[in-house]
Amino acid sequence: MNIYYELLKYGKVLEKIYLKDYTTIKVGGMARYLFYPTNIKNLQKALKYLKKIKYPSFILGMGSNILATDDFHDLVIIKLDHLSSEFIINNELLKISSNYKLSNATKKLNHLGYGNFLGFSLIPASIGGAIKMNASCYGNTISDTLVKIITINKNGKIKIYHKEDLHFKYRKLLLEEIILYSFFKLYSQSDLNTLEESISIKKKSTQVYDYPNFGSVFKNGEIKSYQLIKDTNMQGVKIGGAMFSLKHANFIVNLGEAKAKDIFTLIKMVQKKVYYQYKVNLNLEVIIL
Ligand SMILES: Cc1cc2nc3c(=O)[nH]c(=O)nc-3n(C[C@H](O)[C@H](O)[C@H](O)COP(=O)(O)OP(=O)(O)OC[C@H]3O[C@@H](n4cnc5c(N)ncnc54)[C@H](O)[C@@H]3O)c2cc1C
Repeated sequence: MNIYYELLKYGKVLEKIYLKDYTTIKVGGMARYLFYPTNIKNLQKALKYLKKIKYPSFILGMGSNILATDDFHDLVIIKLDHLSSEFIINNELLKISSNYKLSNATKKLNHLGYGNFLGFSLIPASIGGAIKMNASCYGNTISDTLVKIITINKNGKIKIYHKEDLHFKYRKLLLEEIILYSFFKLYSQSDLNTLEESISIKKKSTQVYDYPNFGSVFKNGEIKSYQLIKDTNMQGVKIGGAMFSLKHANFIVNLGEAKAKDIFTLIKMVQKKVYYQYKVNLNLEVIIL
């Protein structure tokens, strides 16, 4: 059976897309299919079909934490952009769909006087991606006020998980399911717009917003990763079109024509140097696809 025509029954399908067009670092080879389900029922049907034919899929948010290899990706990239977008507050409980932009949700909550997402306005994430990556900024972590999530698994089964049943780690939720909705217990806070602005100014002055990137390359350990990268003289080192940023050493920037292989070379070089000099393993924060 033709996968393209089967998926077409359940939503929009694009064939042979380049992942570099769907990731913030603007790197990544071709993927066979990109699928936008029109509703959850159709997503269920598509997942059941893919499971039946044993064809792999990958859920993509805004692609801001993804390093996709230059190879051909024989799979279906699933994006939730065409599902209905929800932001509903009831009794101080926010229900929000995974396709909602974190920056927009932050602006809305700040405006309404709820401090849950304070500091998140510059994180280029979808809510689903932010929950999966347990995004955080200056001490505020997205899972802090999470109450529950609604997910769908590879069999198309819808499930509800309460926070206490979920395992959140540093930049990771240990759950291999697609998150559809998240629920947050809202709390009031004052001066949010002023606080958000000062966080944004601080972030813009220390982090990288002028070149394509995927945020921090490595997780932080006892010694901050940017410090280890600086100490091994890797800041500013360039391979092909990729470079450890001069502004923040734990960011790799795409200077124009970077390939994933350039980025992998930089990653391996610095990991080797840091281990050799400090016996410290630098662990990737970015997700490899
Ligand atoms: C300029 C810049 C600044 C950044 N600043 C920060 C920061 O301050 N703090 C921070 O924590 N991160 C930061 N990041 C990293 C990144 O934005 C976060 O990790 C973000 O949460 C990724 O969200 P996304 O929607 O882009 O997910 P993607 O990058 O598309 O995906 C990331 C992971 O989430 C999974 N995923 C995506 N959607 C879903 C879903 N609906 N259900 C289940 N899994 C899903 C993907 O399969 C993948 O494993 C920054 C990145 C950039 C480029």
